[in-house]
Amino acid sequence: MRCRVCNERAGWFRRQCAPCATLWSVYEKHRGLPLHALLPLFEGSGASVEEVRRFLAGDPDGDGAVQDRIAADMANQLFAAFGGTPGGQTAEQVRRLRARGAWKTFGERPD
Ligand SMILES: [Zn+2]
Repeated sequence: MRCRVCNERAGWFRRQCAPCATLWSVYEKHRGLPLHALLPLFEGSGASVEEVRRFLAGDPDGDGAVQDRIAADMANQLFAAFGGTPGGQTAEQVRRLRARGAWKTFGERPD
């Protein structure tokens, strides 16, 4: 069979070749990391630069090329970081700290 990701020979009864299967598991494990952080992990898995390049351009299940998924993951993380969640917990913690600080200095003369 042909590899569904890179279209190279995958071997009998295999949907992915060995390098793509390894690279995919690295991607799944570290999903959300930016590409520059993923690349050393991909190369550290033992795949060649060419195998990594084919993997990134490949589309294992029709949902888009792996490199586009990585970009989308990064965008989603950025969105979450800047947009926060409704009723953001971090903002609430900051607000509480600020309120406690004001309580401590209550009744003291401002500098
Ligand atoms: Zn492959």
